[in-house]
Amino acid sequence: MKRIVVFTGAGISVESGLPTFRGSDGLWEGHRIEDVATPETWSRNPELVQSFYNKRRTDCLAANPNKAHHKLAELEKDFDVHIITQNIDDLHERAGSKNVIHLHGQIRKSQSSIDPNLIYDIEGDKIDMGDNCELGSQLRPHVVWFGEPVPMMNEAYKLAKSADVFVTIGTSLQVYPAANLIYETKPDCKLILIDPNAEQYHVPPVVVKISEKASVGVDYLAKLIAK
Ligand code: NAD
Repeated sequence: MKRIVVFTGAGISVESGLPTFRGSDGLWEGHRIEDVATPETWSRNPELVQSFYNKRRTDCLAANPNKAHHKLAELEKDFDVHIITQNIDDLHERAGSKNVIHLHGQIRKSQSSIDPNLIYDIEGDKIDMGDNCELGSQLRPHVVWFGEPVPMMNEAYKLAKSADVFVTIGTSLQVYPAANLIYETKPDCKLILIDPNAEQYHVPPVVVKISEKASVGVDYLAKLIAK
């Protein structure tokens, strides 16, 4: 069975009502994402970071998977599909995709602020200051912040190397090391990029660019991989 590896970013969830972090002004309530999502900000102002992610979690719970998420789940009928997502939402899982790895964590989980291996499901939509892990330290969002290691990266490299088709959807390819994945693929792997701004991105010339939003791009994708 042909192996399709799909690498998704914030753009795939835009049509579910979840904005990208680099929107029109690139700011969230006056803050640059690079200033909120860091261990340094957590040390200096944990309330700000907690409230940022509490709001993201509320939005995520209110959102539903869109056509692009559903189409990728449907492809599992005919292909061996694996999703590597940079997204912290759970819309791929809720659409029915079975093989999903999250490079940057999951908003619906918390983790200990002293032991990243202690991870918990969150009941409801909030982590409160004063909510502690079993070791007695404050719980933080289970999200990979700028400057932190990406524990799932090796698994993602292995998947990229094993792909017959590698599809990138809705990412500006600005966040490393994730943006390197496309360069890990086999020489004969078919490469496809779906993004309304695809023409602006510098990728190898063999990449087939589909300059469409995700819900439209997935229809082209289905036709391309059927060949
Ligand atoms: P990004 O904001 O840097 O890039 C988003 C990309 O989506 C852009 O290339 C844009 O052209 C494209 N896009 C916009 N509308 C689209 C649509 N309808 N269909 C397809 N593509 C569309 O996002 P990124 O590269 O994913 O990186 C930002 C980081 O922020 C990631 O780590 C990601 O985890 C995180 N993030 C996650 C969520 C989420 O979980 N839903 C939301 C925002 C940011």
